[in-house]
Amino acid sequence: MDKSQFNINTLSEAELGWEKCLGIIKDNVNWRTYQTWFEPVRAVALTENILTLQVPSQFFYEWLEEHYVELLGKTIKRVLGKEGRLEYRIIMESGSPHRSPASVNMPGSTHNKPAKETNFVDMPLKWDDPHNIKTPYAIPGLKRMQIDPQLNANYTFENYVEGDCNRVARSAGMHIAKKPGTTSFNPLVVYGGVGWGKTHLVQAIGNETRRLHPNKSVLYVSAEKFINQFIDHSKNNEINDFIHFYQLIDVLILDDIHLFIPANKTQDVFFAIFNHLHQGGKQIILTSDTPPKDLDGMQERLLSRFRWGLNADIQAPDFETRQLILQMKMRQEGLEIPDDVVKYIAYNVQSNVRELEGAVIALFAQATLNRKEIDLELAKRVMRNFVKTAIREITIENIQKMVCDYYHIAYDKLLAKTRKREVVQARQITMYLAKKFTKSSLKNIGEHFGGFDHTTVIHSCQTVENLMDTDVEYKEHLLEIQQKVQLASI
Ligand code: ADP
Ligand code: MG
Repeated sequence: MDKSQFNINTLSEAELGWEKCLGIIKDNVNWRTYQTWFEPVRAVALTENILTLQVPSQFFYEWLEEHYVELLGKTIKRVLGKEGRLEYRIIMESGSPHRSPASVNMPGSTHNKPAKETNFVDMPLKWDDPHNIKTPYAIPGLKRMQIDPQLNANYTFENYVEGDCNRVARSAGMHIAKKPGTTSFNPLVVYGGVGWGKTHLVQAIGNETRRLHPNKSVLYVSAEKFINQFIDHSKNNEINDFIHFYQLIDVLILDDIHLFIPANKTQDVFFAIFNHLHQGGKQIILTSDTPPKDLDGMQERLLSRFRWGLNADIQAPDFETRQLILQMKMRQEGLEIPDDVVKYIAYNVQSNVRELEGAVIALFAQATLNRKEIDLELAKRVMRNFVKTAIREITIENIQKMVCDYYHIAYDKLLAKTRKREVVQARQITMYLAKKFTKSSLKNIGEHFGGFDHTTVIHSCQTVENLMDTDVEYKEHLLEIQQKVQLASI
C-alpha cells in the first residue's frame, strides 16, 4: 500500500475511527464473523467523514456489501456522524491497491432494521460428509492443531517411485515439505492424467510436512468434498464457519480442482480463502487433470494466481517407472513374480498405475484359482482379457517407435536420410526387426524409411547379423530391443 499519499495524522485518525467501529461491530456479530470479515480490513484514510477501508479482494468487498451493509452503515454513522460514509480499496493481484468501486454510499437512514448478524449464535457441528469424516467447522475456539489432516498414511515419498514422468513435481513436493509456504512453489499445481500419481504425490507432501513440522496444520480435501461442504454451509448460512475453518490451515491440499469449473460460487469462496492463506505465507497445493492454462471456465483471477507458483506436470509413467512401481508394489505385498512377467505387464499395461495394479491382482487370482505358477504363459493369457486391445499386431511403425525410444532418437530423424552413426545403426536394427517380426516385404520396409530400396534393407539385415556375431555389447542391446518387440505382441 502506498501510504505516502496520506499524511500520517490522517492515517492514524482513520485507524482510530476504524477501531471505534470495530468495537461496535464486535458486539453485534459472533466472533468468527468478526475474525473472518472484519479483522482483515485495514483503515487507510479518513477525510471529511469518508472512511476508506482496504479489503483483500473484490469478493471480500462484495461479501461485506451483501451481508454487512446495514451494520456497517449504522456503525459508521455512530462513529462519524450522520454524514459518515465508507469507501473501499481493493488489493489487486499485483498487490497494489485499486479503487474499485471508487465510492460506495452507505444507507442513509438510521431506521434500518437491525443487522442480520446481531442474533447470530455459534452452531453445533452439523455437517457430516458422505464418507463420514467429520470436519469440525463450527466448534468454537477450534485450534489449528486439532484439525484432522485427512491424509492417507500409506501415501508417502518412500513408496512414490521417481521417474522421468514425475521428477520435477516430486522434487518440488519434497522442497515444499521441508519449507511449506516459504519456497517459490506457492501454489504448487500438479497436473496430469487419471491414475498417473497426482493424489499419491500431494498426500505424500502432506504426510512429509507433518512429519517434519508437527505443529503445522495440514489439510487434504478433494475438490468434490470442498464443493459439497460449501453448498451445505451456504444452505445453512454457515459460510463464515466454512471460510474461517479453511483460514486456519497452514498447508492446504486441494485435489482435482478441475471440478470447480461449473461451480462459480465455489470459485469465489476459494478465491477468498486462497488470498487469505497466500498473504499469510501459508502453503497451497492443488491438483488438476488439465493443464491450468486449459482450464476453460475457471475464473481468470484464479488462473493468474495459479501461475504465481509452480505448475508441474506428471506424465504417464514410462516403461522403466512402470517396472519399478510393479516391483515395489510386489515387495510391499510380499508377492513374487518372475522378472520377465513383470516386464511383460509393465510393457502392456500402459495407461495408468491403477490398471497396472489391477493386472497384478488379476494375475494372482488366476494363479491361485488354477493352482498354477505365475509365468509368462499365464501372464499372456490373463493379459489377453485384461488389455482391451487384445491381440496386437506388430507393425513397422511400432518397431520404429520402440527403437527410437530405446536409443532416444527423434522419430523424424530415423526417417531422414542422414548418415549419422547412431541413426544409421538404429535404422539398420529397425529394418532387421521389421523383417523378422512383420510380414512386410523388403520393398515395403524400405518405403517406411522414406524410400530406401530393398537392397538397402537386405544390406542392413546382413550388417546387423554380422555385428551380432562379433560385438557382444551390440548383441545384448539388440536382444533387449527384440524382447520389447516380442512382449508388445500378445
Ligand atoms: P491420480 O490422482 O493422478 O489419478 P493416484 O495418485 O490416485 O493417481 O495414483 C493411482 C495409483 O497409482 C495409486 O495407488 C498410487 O499409489 C499409484 N501410483 C501412481 N504413481 C505412482 C508412483 N510414481 N509410485 C508408486 N505408486 C504410484
Ligand atoms: Mg487423484
